[in-house]
Amino acid sequence: MKEIVKDIYSIKPSEKAVYDSSKYIIDTKSDNGLVLIDPGLYVDFFLELEEKGFDPKDIKHCLITHAHLDHYGACYELKRFNKDIQFYAHELDAGQIEQKLDHELIKETFPGYDYEPVKISRRIKDKEILTFGQFKFTCIHTPGHTPGAVGYLLEINKLKIFFGGDVGGLALNIFGGNIDDYLNSLQKVKDLNVDIICDGHEGAIKPVKELSDYIQGLKKFNKFLHIVLEEDPSNIKVWYDLTLLTYEMGGYDYALDFCNYLLEIDPNNADTNRLLKKIKKHNPSKIEFVKPIFEKYSKNQ
Ligand SMILES: [Zn+2]
Repeated sequence: MKEIVKDIYSIKPSEKAVYDSSKYIIDTKSDNGLVLIDPGLYVDFFLELEEKGFDPKDIKHCLITHAHLDHYGACYELKRFNKDIQFYAHELDAGQIEQKLDHELIKETFPGYDYEPVKISRRIKDKEILTFGQFKFTCIHTPGHTPGAVGYLLEINKLKIFFGGDVGGLALNIFGGNIDDYLNSLQKVKDLNVDIICDGHEGAIKPVKELSDYIQGLKKFNKFLHIVLEEDPSNIKVWYDLTLLTYEMGGYDYALDFCNYLLEIDPNNADTNRLLKKIKKHNPSKIEFVKPIFEKYSKNQ
């Protein structure tokens, strides 16, 4: 648990799961207790809270960024600690959070995981303001990753902090995404001119240069990904550009998966083989991303 600025903390994703979200805690120092942004899948972060002298029962408000289980699965456990806890989500994603996900889908994506859905106490809309003690959050609707993805903008001591959830995530149809909305939302975030983005998985990203590289990289990444997965899977040039960009952004696991796929459809390309060597120097883990997605698309057709 790390203090980003005074009274605002980030907690890393749980190591118990392959995918889990970053969590953010705001100590309102008021009757509103602690505000939590995205609980993730497990409440094992309570240990870290207690080490810092906080009581998990004081989490009175939980702001959810979007309807992907790795961001809200632990909500029902929070409720066991404080039955009066209030949950907030955008009106377009709230319905999905309130329903239990299909068993097969959970098994496929989060093997061995189970949860119970919770009722959303307040369905929020774009530009709505939530006030907890001296902290005022403006809800910014950022569709694209999911239809009701929302970020929470906090301005405090002349600092603009944006809790963006997976505004930097994928924009694939198959996960409820939409590439046009996604690109508009990234522009919207860029125009907010924030000082810190608290990303849904990567923790807090600070310096301005880093922020603009982050947004530019994400734009390109999702454009390329959309082309090769959803429009033109045999486009070798875009596959190569995607792999190179992913490598340059430090996503070595994904870069390896893309590169392996590229070599299957175009085995003798010297550039790709050279890139593969560079990627392997970083000892990436072997993940299966591209093929399962193609399988999903073919099942859905
Ligand atoms: Zn997500």
